[in-house]
Amino acid sequence: MTPERLVSAIPVEDDSVFELKLRPHRLSEFIGQSKAKQQLAIALEAAKSRGEALDHVLLFGPPGLGKTTLATIIANEMGVAFQQTSGPALQIQGDLTAILSNLKDKQVLFLDEAHRLQPVLQEKLYTALEDLRLDIMIGQGPAARTFILDVKPFTFVAATTRPSLLSSPMRARFGILLRLEFYTDDELRFIVERSADVLGVPIDRDGASELAMRSRGTPRIANRLLRRVRDYAQVRGDGRIDRATAHAALEMLEVDSHGFDELDRRLLRTIIEKYDGGPVGLGTLAAALAEEQEALEEVYEPFLIQIGFLDRTPRGRVATRLAYQHFGLDMPGKLSLF
Ligand code: ADP
Repeated sequence: MTPERLVSAIPVEDDSVFELKLRPHRLSEFIGQSKAKQQLAIALEAAKSRGEALDHVLLFGPPGLGKTTLATIIANEMGVAFQQTSGPALQIQGDLTAILSNLKDKQVLFLDEAHRLQPVLQEKLYTALEDLRLDIMIGQGPAARTFILDVKPFTFVAATTRPSLLSSPMRARFGILLRLEFYTDDELRFIVERSADVLGVPIDRDGASELAMRSRGTPRIANRLLRRVRDYAQVRGDGRIDRATAHAALEMLEVDSHGFDELDRRLLRTIIEKYDGGPVGLGTLAAALAEEQEALEEVYEPFLIQIGFLDRTPRGRVATRLAYQHFGLDMPGKLSLF
C-alpha cells in the first residue's frame, strides 16, 4: 500500500474484514466522543423504558470517525435488527420500497452517505419517516393505481460527511443529531491498545502513543497503522510493538509526524508557494491540485483546520504560521490593511 493510502480516512479494499473484527459492539466499548455518547445513552435508555423504537438519528462528521460503528451499536443496544444501505446504492424507487416494506419492528435502517440519496427518494423516505406509510404507484397513464403501504415503526440512522447537503425537510425528521469530532491522541492511544488486545498483538503505551499521534485524529487510520506496524514488528523484531519499533516502522512506511499524506503536503505547499499563503478560493485550489472540491472539503481540510494548519476565511483558504513552520519556511510578514 502506498503511504498516501495508508493515512487515508476513506476505507481501502482490505480494511473491511479487519474493521469488522475491531468494531466495538456496545456503547461502553466505544472510546471518546463523550458528548455524542452521553446524548445517545439517555435517548436509548428512554426509548427502551418506553418500549418504543429510538428516534431517528443523524450522524455527521468526517470519514473514519465511527458513524457506521455507532449505527451498529444502536441496534445492539436496542436489541433490534440492523440493515445497512447507502445513498448511491439506492437508484430507483423500487429499491427503497423493497427495503421499507421488509422492515422488522423497531429495527435500525442505516443509510450511509445520506447526502447522495436522490432528491425524489429523499422525498419518499421522509413521508415514510413522518407517517409510517409509503405511497406506491403501480402502472402508468390512466391505468395507474396508488397503493398505500404501511411501514413498521423503525429507527432511521443516517450518516453523512456533509449535513448541509441534506434537504431541510429531511434534516427536520431527525430527533437526535450527533456530531462526531476528531479524536485526541489519548483517545486514539486507547483505541490502538484495545485493537491490539483484540488482535493479540503485544504493544506498550509508548508504542501505542506513537501510532496515535500519526493517525490524523481518525480511528480507521489508527487501526490501519497498527496492522502495518504489527507486520513490521513480526518480521523485523520479536513481534512486540514499543516506541522504537513503531517509530522505525512508520519511518519505513513514510508516515510523517502528523500522519500527513502527499495531498495534505501538496495542498499546504500550493497555498504557500503559488498563492503566497492565501487566501485562495476552494475552486482555484482544487483546480491547481487537480482534485475534486468535495474531497478537499470533506476529507482533507477538516483535519488541517482542526490542528491549526489551515484557515477557512470568507475570501478563501489561508495557510497558517504552523503550516509554514512544518515545512521549515518563514512566514512572510503580511501588511495589515486594517
Ligand atoms: P465511519 O462510518 O465514520 O467512516 P466507521 O464506523 O466505519 O467510520 O469506523 C472505522 C473503524 O474505526 C471501525 O472499524 C472501528 O473499529 C474503528 N472505530 C471508530 N470509532 C471507534 C471508537 N470510538 N472506538 C473504537 N474503535 C472505533
